[in-house]
Amino acid sequence: MTEPAKLLVATNNPGKLREYIPLLAGLPFKLVTLADAGITDDVEETGTSMEQNAIHKATVYSSLSGFIALADDSGLEVDALGGEPGPLSRRYAGDNASDKERNEYLLSKLRDVPWERRGARFRCIIAIATPEAQVETVEGVCEGVIAFDCRGGSGFGYDPIFYLPELDKRMAELTLDEKNEISHRARAAQKARPIIEKLGYNR
Ligand code: IMP
Repeated sequence: MTEPAKLLVATNNPGKLREYIPLLAGLPFKLVTLADAGITDDVEETGTSMEQNAIHKATVYSSLSGFIALADDSGLEVDALGGEPGPLSRRYAGDNASDKERNEYLLSKLRDVPWERRGARFRCIIAIATPEAQVETVEGVCEGVIAFDCRGGSGFGYDPIFYLPELDKRMAELTLDEKNEISHRARAAQKARPIIEKLGYNR
């Protein structure tokens, strides 16, 4: 029996990786991480849009590994901040800030913004690239409201301040399985699955 083709889940973010493993289960691929592939390079995000960054990461990591690679660029868009931090979500409070510092920084920017103007969304762009530089992208969005404090210990990043009105919970109060039912990443992954499947059959 031939081994299944490999799909590189190209992220250095352990929070994203934890979510992707169940989201990509059942595909005709063996999932490999950057560590499994022996890749230690961190690809710089130089683009001005999430789409550019996702495409860049997926193509570079696919060419480094020789495998089909999936990369995501994701972030939080806050209406009262004109869509910021957006593609700058990871570096919003400085390059070396912790998730806690990023959340506190964002909350401080919204201190005087009333509840009805605190709308926001998480956006995730997934790019899937082949070593031959074929690339496709898909997008997933999850709408919510920025709360006034942090709550919950699951997830990562801005999850503790992201309130989901229909569940009356913060994203960080959901289990991994619950987050994977509704998140921006889950919605994008759902669209990515048939693309990955098609690439798998062509290998
Ligand atoms: P990047 O996609 O590596 O550029 O970074 C995305 C940044 O956006 C992360 O470091 C988080 O701060 C934030 N982010 C992306 N996805 C999520 C999520 O699912 N929950 C909370 N924060 C997220």
